[in-house]
Amino acid sequence: MSERKVIITVAPTGSLITRKETPYLPITPEEVIAEACRSVDEGAAIIHLHARDPNTGLPTNDVKVYRDYVEGIRAERDVILQLTTGGGAVTLGLSPEERLIAVKELRPEMASLNAGSMNFGRKVFANPPDVIESYARLMKEWKVVPEFEIYDVSMINNVLEWVVKPRIMELPLEFGLVLGVMGGIPATPKNLLFLTENLPKPCTWQVIAIGRHQIPLGIVGVISGGNMRVGMEDNIYVKRGVLARSNAELVAKAVKIVRELGLEIASPDEAREILNIPKKV
Ligand code: ZN
Repeated sequence: MSERKVIITVAPTGSLITRKETPYLPITPEEVIAEACRSVDEGAAIIHLHARDPNTGLPTNDVKVYRDYVEGIRAERDVILQLTTGGGAVTLGLSPEERLIAVKELRPEMASLNAGSMNFGRKVFANPPDVIESYARLMKEWKVVPEFEIYDVSMINNVLEWVVKPRIMELPLEFGLVLGVMGGIPATPKNLLFLTENLPKPCTWQVIAIGRHQIPLGIVGVISGGNMRVGMEDNIYVKRGVLARSNAELVAKAVKIVRELGLEIASPDEAREILNIPKKV
């Protein structure tokens, strides 16, 4: 089969899941760092991070917490760190400027860049064109590689219209296809293929499927030429009715299936090459 290597991203916390849903959610910097290390050892090349208040477990935008995560993980493992710029919008009601503070301060290798406005559950997740444009300009200036998060097909056009056309950034770009958020495109194989058909070429992309769709749709993505994300931000079950005891367990499951398909897993350095990320550290 092909020589292509598959990039596995792990999103260990997100900003919505709490210890009520799963007691295995990592919260403190020590727990998040340990989970990140275990996930890297199982094959994850990218860690997608949201900060949690170590005392309450609730989402926070405290740069100190982000710094603890970033420095702690970097001290232990060579892995690509990708900070969120979106999570706090829905859960904390942060302004666009506030959402970018940790990225500005810490200059991670990657950050998410949400490519449009939508209903997110019962909330409004606002990412108007001026925000998309300014985030893209600043990330370019800071040499932070964006992952454009696509929650519906129209958001691919937003990236072309507000980022590529004004020549803020050029293709290839990296896309995260998010399926199954209430308010976004539903998680079906047909919808995933529809999104991939609408992606510009050349580009790289991964599947971020919510809940029970995480692994099956992720694998559809891998078979179709993409990469996949796992982790408790999107899904807390390792199989029906059985909670994942760690994020690394979800990484291990994805890695096992990908290898059974005859594909190799990308190391962090190989992922940097695939995603055109200049190595920083
Ligand atoms: Zn996230």
